[in-house]
Amino acid sequence: MTHTAYRRAALRTPVPGPLSKQYLDRQDEHESSARTYPRRLPIAVKRAQGSYLEDVDGNVYLDFLTGAGVLSLGHSHPELVAAVTTQLGEFVHGLDLPTPIKDRFTEAQLSMLPEGMRDRMKMHFCGPTGANGVEAAVKLCKIVTGRSDVITFQGGFHGSTAAAMALTGALDTKEAVPNHLPGVHFFPYSYCARCPLGLTPDTCETNCVTYLERALNDSNGGIVKPAAVVMELVQGEGGVIPATKEFVQRVRALTRELEIPMVVDEVQTGCGRTGTWFAFEQYDIEPDVIVASKALSGIGLPIAALIYDKALDTWKPGAHIGTFRGNQLAFAAGVAAIEVVRRDRVLENVAARGAELQAALNELAARTPWAREVRGLGLMWGIELADPATGAPASALAREVQAAALRNGLIVEVGGRADCVVRMLPPLNISAEELAEACAALTAAFDEADEDFTAAAGRE
Ligand code: PMP
Repeated sequence: MTHTAYRRAALRTPVPGPLSKQYLDRQDEHESSARTYPRRLPIAVKRAQGSYLEDVDGNVYLDFLTGAGVLSLGHSHPELVAAVTTQLGEFVHGLDLPTPIKDRFTEAQLSMLPEGMRDRMKMHFCGPTGANGVEAAVKLCKIVTGRSDVITFQGGFHGSTAAAMALTGALDTKEAVPNHLPGVHFFPYSYCARCPLGLTPDTCETNCVTYLERALNDSNGGIVKPAAVVMELVQGEGGVIPATKEFVQRVRALTRELEIPMVVDEVQTGCGRTGTWFAFEQYDIEPDVIVASKALSGIGLPIAALIYDKALDTWKPGAHIGTFRGNQLAFAAGVAAIEVVRRDRVLENVAARGAELQAALNELAARTPWAREVRGLGLMWGIELADPATGAPASALAREVQAAALRNGLIVEVGGRADCVVRMLPPLNISAEELAEACAALTAAFDEADEDFTAAAGRE
């Protein structure tokens, strides 16, 4: 299904190759020490097409990172490139003025919602990042309710700006920055592989959400009624953890009952990643606010938006502004992306390829005692690694698998608690052949890493 000049992954040099090494050294000298990806994926990129990416040394990799879930139709999909190229000569930056292409984009996005929601929702375009969308959602809910606190969930990731970071679970980046947004309360998420309440499947009755229900209904619970409950339906950076259906449905019922706006952060899960346009559709709920960003344009052009209930639309003109809210190129690409998704039945491909990936990962997990759980939805998958003797997160092994995958021509990510989850976000239009190629590379990577690791740990 992908349009690609590349046929398969092929490495010509060790990783990093000599040219990549030069760029990485120059980057080290001139760029911030806060950079991340090149530390774990030490390559400099020359170009990319479809599911493949080529580094400056001519090594070709299958890309299962896709710009952190941004490139839903792979790199530089030709129809999206054509749409962007045409728009480039017409009009590029439009603040929040209406334009024909923006109108088409808005209509196309709303048309992807479940039928019952289409007329009820409207959009606000934010500054072009997921974090900015999250900030806008929190601001909207505070303004509407007049309340100040926000409830969110352990393990969640919502971005790097001040408020978004305050809503994020991961402590490694937070701890260094004093003075977080006050009034944020973290509740346990349905992360059953490591139950936050220490329960086992036979003793669990989704007590994590019972705790939230009781806390919010307790007159001595200490938490005033919040402005919003903000959640991911599949925690992505948190280690690919799909919330259980019961958990999400009870959060929805509770927030309805207490009249608390429910914000779903679909920055990563949105635009087809989980097999439906938005993940909330699979939970049979209707949120009040959806935050969308990454794959809205389908080609990597930045954009972010809130899609929210018209009843909440009480904020004043200028309540959430931003210079880069009107990226016409992103709108043009996004319109073309939805056309391709519909025409090529991309969501069906997500389901079919997702099932194949799940089966391959389960097979892989059965080969090593270090695999604790295979999790995912649609084409968002992870395999959590843990020490079989102690249960501790096997972060070093995950990193070793990531490095070995790269040597075998496959780009994957790590995430989750202590980065112990090997994560995959392939293009949504990936072909069965490309997926099989990636699974073979991953199997080789696991075998190499597992062998090295077991030997190094002296546990043969
Ligand atoms: N929310 C979620 C669920 C995300 O996965 C991310 C990015 N990984 C963000 C928010 C932040 O998006 P951005 O990096 O574009 O600010």
